[in-house]
Amino acid sequence: MKLETLQDLLIDELEDIYDAEQQLVVALPKMAKTATSPELKKSFEMHLEQTEGHVKRLEQVFKIFGEEPERKTCKAMKGLIAEGAEVIKEDADPEVKDAALISAAQRVEHYEMVAYGSARTYAEELGKTEAVELLEETLKEEKQTDSKLTKLAVTVINLKPSKN
Ligand code: FE
Ligand code: FE
Repeated sequence: MKLETLQDLLIDELEDIYDAEQQLVVALPKMAKTATSPELKKSFEMHLEQTEGHVKRLEQVFKIFGEEPERKTCKAMKGLIAEGAEVIKEDADPEVKDAALISAAQRVEHYEMVAYGSARTYAEELGKTEAVELLEETLKEEKQTDSKLTKLAVTVINLKPSKN
């Protein structure tokens, strides 16, 4: 389909992030299961709940624009999750693995933050306040998750700088 308007572009990007969020709903339980730190485990579980909410919010946004929610494969999220899966399979010390899981998860959050930031701006341009608020709400949760992961990386994960 040819994208002719800002709304076409917004819907196209919503379909991408709608797919990305659903990929995450499948991936996050595996991340939670792999994490050793109880706090990290808990934060993955909590973000899974939020992510299910993100899917629902996107469905509301589609509705505001009079569109049926459709998924368009998010190749970026596929790649990010594939890298996360590599971390999960890695033979590593538990704390090293936790650090790697945090890093993989933050890559995901940053991708989502950019996606929601753009979508929010398009919705603003289109004067759809209700959609702006929904996208903003999710953006806020992605940012909070990212900051929480940063804190966990320094407080919970007590890494040895080297072997000696
Ligand atoms: Fe999300
Ligand atoms: Fe997220």
